[in-house]
Amino acid sequence: MALIVHKYGGTSMGSPERIRNVAKRVAKWARAGHQMVVVPSAMSGETNRLLGLAGELAPAKSTAEYQRELDMLAATGEQASSALLAIALQAEGLDAISYTGWQVPVRTDSSYTKARIESIDDQRVRADLAGGKVVVITGFQGIDEDGHITTLGRGGSDTSAVAIAAAMKADECLIYTDVDGVYTTDPRVVPAARRLHTVSFEEMLEMASLGSKVLQIRSVEFAGKYKVPMRVLSSFTPWDIDLAEEAQSGTLITFEEDEKMEKAVVSGIAFNRGEAKISVLGVPDTPGIAYRILGPVAEANIEVDVIIQNISKDGKADFSFTVNHSDYNRALDLLRTKVVPELGAQEVVGDPHICKVSIVGIGMRSHVGVASTMFRVLSQENINIQMISTSEIKTSVVIDEKYLELAVRALHTAFDLDKPAE
Ligand code: ADP
Ligand code: ASP
Ligand code: MG
Repeated sequence: MALIVHKYGGTSMGSPERIRNVAKRVAKWARAGHQMVVVPSAMSGETNRLLGLAGELAPAKSTAEYQRELDMLAATGEQASSALLAIALQAEGLDAISYTGWQVPVRTDSSYTKARIESIDDQRVRADLAGGKVVVITGFQGIDEDGHITTLGRGGSDTSAVAIAAAMKADECLIYTDVDGVYTTDPRVVPAARRLHTVSFEEMLEMASLGSKVLQIRSVEFAGKYKVPMRVLSSFTPWDIDLAEEAQSGTLITFEEDEKMEKAVVSGIAFNRGEAKISVLGVPDTPGIAYRILGPVAEANIEVDVIIQNISKDGKADFSFTVNHSDYNRALDLLRTKVVPELGAQEVVGDPHICKVSIVGIGMRSHVGVASTMFRVLSQENINIQMISTSEIKTSVVIDEKYLELAVRALHTAFDLDKPAE
């Protein structure tokens, strides 16, 4: 008998029929003798619907008061889907109970809308499991030390599931979603994308951080830190397929580099449409510039990603960086009103129509010329590279968003990812 955590995403929970299907699948696992904890997301579209309602009443604000209410609101989506799943499980003849994050409790810090899990008390859940119950725990949410409801950032149910699996030392955490595993790139953008049977934890971490939304990055961080065995698989297979077959399907996240993985230089291509570029032009080229521009940006809690500073001409340099779309207007305002007048820079310009495309692979460590192949492919497609950023196992470029699909498809072919794995 094993302790297994299942996580089901929004599409998998998208209708009463799909919830019933989830319940039947979970029942199959429970009847095979496993202790089951299930972590559902809100039904698809629900989180957006709720946040949209808030936006109709008041424009988004970064104040703690406003953000707190967003969490109070958004957390209801998972509360509803969890109760519905427990009802469906009961209808399947199982003893099932659902808990919200604060009932468990899942303790987090107080960073509303992007809280981090600090600890999980598993006593209550363990007692239920010992009593033969299937336990459903809301994804995406927790409670801070003052009793305020928090949420973990978009896609956060993945993190809830892996954190619960880590806290309970579960035998495996299975992330059921609307694709049948982790692909070489988003299969909705590149039809030739291929499913990976395994992906190393490090590659998955890079892919998630570079925009592959199949897993929230913090879930991968948790899996790595606590060595949680984790698999991404489809919730759309017939619920009654053979359990052993299901347990081997999808993509396994591995913690050891095996030989097979070393063969592929590039394992995957990630992209992110969610960033915008800001350039501060004509900055006096003196020591401390980066700090004087990015210091106030960091103080305003705005995350910065790719940064470049060009060579100065006549003692003036241009300084560019990317931020999340959601912070774009705030960052522009801040730079125009505070930073530019103090620095004596010429002007601030922005471009929200960019995207970041990244190639990822642990094979890049031991191969030279991978980045230059990327640049060649983009130049052959006449795509202008605006910014470049590299690390040991990835190279990212910022390009005009209208070339996103063209760039990803060309790179996918150039790095031999269209071909079936050996
Ligand atoms: P869920 O609601 O189950 O959490 P998400 O929408 O958050 O599902 O994540 C699954 C989606 O991630 C897929 O439908 C797919 O479009 C997208 N995706 C992006 N990159 C990849 C990738 N490399 N492999 C698989 N899916 C990917
Ligand atoms: N419901 C939340 C969201 O839409 C969390 C999740 O689905 O993982 O972001
Ligand atoms: Mg998700």
